Amino acid sequence: MKLLEERIRRDGVVRGNGVLKVDRFLNHQMDVELFMEMGKEFKRLFEGEEITKILTIEASGIGIACVAAQCFHVPVVFAKKNKTKNIAGDVYTTEVESFTHGKTYDIMVSKEFLNPEDRVLLIDDFLANGAALMGLISLVREAGATVVGAGICIEKAFQPGGDRIRKMGVRVEALARVGSMSEEDGVTFL
Ligand code: 5GP
Repeated sequence: MKLLEERIRRDGVVRGNGVLKVDRFLNHQMDVELFMEMGKEFKRLFEGEEITKILTIEASGIGIACVAAQCFHVPVVFAKKNKTKNIAGDVYTTEVESFTHGKTYDIMVSKEFLNPEDRVLLIDDFLANGAALMGLISLVREAGATVVGAGICIEKAFQPGGDRIRKMGVRVEALARVGSMSEEDGVTFL
């Protein structure tokens, strides 16, 4: 998606630790008009698919998921992050290893909000090693619901997440695919 690529070139900052900072428009300050264009693009990409729910993960997926949901006319559920193990019986839960924070945490969704009839579109801001998406897929499958696919704003395609998830048979659509990035040369797209 040209608009997003241009914005990453203009306002993205590459950090030496393999992190692309996009907090000027995506995950701290949020450009909601850009989000609306991204939402429409997700809708176009998944046109013809029956989708009953969008699932994302707190915190940085929530903004784009909510705006995208206005195009799909479905509710958004976000998986909550827990610092301690949640063993309550009324939630689906799984473990996720954080790329940006380098630690492991549990995510959970109340059983009330994912049902076997649900056809779920996963939405997140980034795809790097795929841990966050794999966690979300595992919650959906635990509920007996169907993963329709994943809509990702920025896939760092030089990391293994995209390949991993696609090999699991899950359709992944990324609006911008970063092929390489460095502090000196900035970002190149595939
Ligand atoms: P994964 O689980 O695929 O390794 O990483 C995805 C999660 O890590 C996303 O939810 C996102 O919040 C965060 N993340 C991964 N890479 C980056 C990055 O380069 N920049 C930012 N801002 N977040 C990232």
